Amino acid sequence: MISKELEEILACPKCKGEIKISECRSVVVCETCKLKYSVDNDIPIMLIDKAEKLV
Ligand SMILES: [Zn+2]
Repeated sequence: MISKELEEILACPKCKGEIKISECRSVVVCETCKLKYSVDNDIPIMLIDKAEKLV
């Protein structure tokens, strides 16, 4: 499970802004860019290429 500390350290690679971990802890979301980053084995994949658009 992703820790609160990690959530605070992580930044969106696109806008360098804050990200949020979803309640299910399976995606990391940047509300500014409307992008979501997947989480693999508790490690967020913070790559713009791998990000998906929020619907
Ligand atoms: Zn962003």
